[in-house]
Amino acid sequence: MAALPHKHCENHPHREAVARCPSCGSDYCRECISEHEGRLLCAACLRARFTEVSGAKRSWGGLRRGAEAIFGLVLLWAVFYTAGRSLVATPTASHEYIFNNVASMLDVLDEEEP
Ligand SMILES: [Zn+2]
Ligand SMILES: [Zn+2]
Repeated sequence: MAALPHKHCENHPHREAVARCPSCGSDYCRECISEHEGRLLCAACLRARFTEVSGAKRSWGGLRRGAEAIFGLVLLWAVFYTAGRSLVATPTASHEYIFNNVASMLDVLDEEEP
C-alpha cells in the first residue's frame, strides 16, 4: 500500500495516514481504516454504514420482503387454485352457463325494447 506523504491520520495526528476514506474523504492510519465489501472505509463510516444497513433490515427490509413473498405465494396459489378448479369443472357446463346468461340477457334486452 502506498503511503501518503505529509498526510496524517484524522484521529491520530502523530501517525502517518496510509489511506483515504472514500466516503468522508479524510485520511486515516492503518488502525483507523478497514476494508468492507472490497472498499476501504474509516471506522466512523463503517459504523454508520453498518447501523444503517442493520437498522433498515430490522425495521423494513426483512419484514417487507417476507410479507411480499407470502403475498406473492398466496396470490399464485389463488390464481392456480381458481384456474385449476375451472379447468376441472366440465368446460361444456361453464360454456352452457355463460351461453344461457348471455341468452337471458338478450331476452331481457328484447323485452325492454318497445
Ligand atoms: Zn470515512
Ligand atoms: Zn488513526
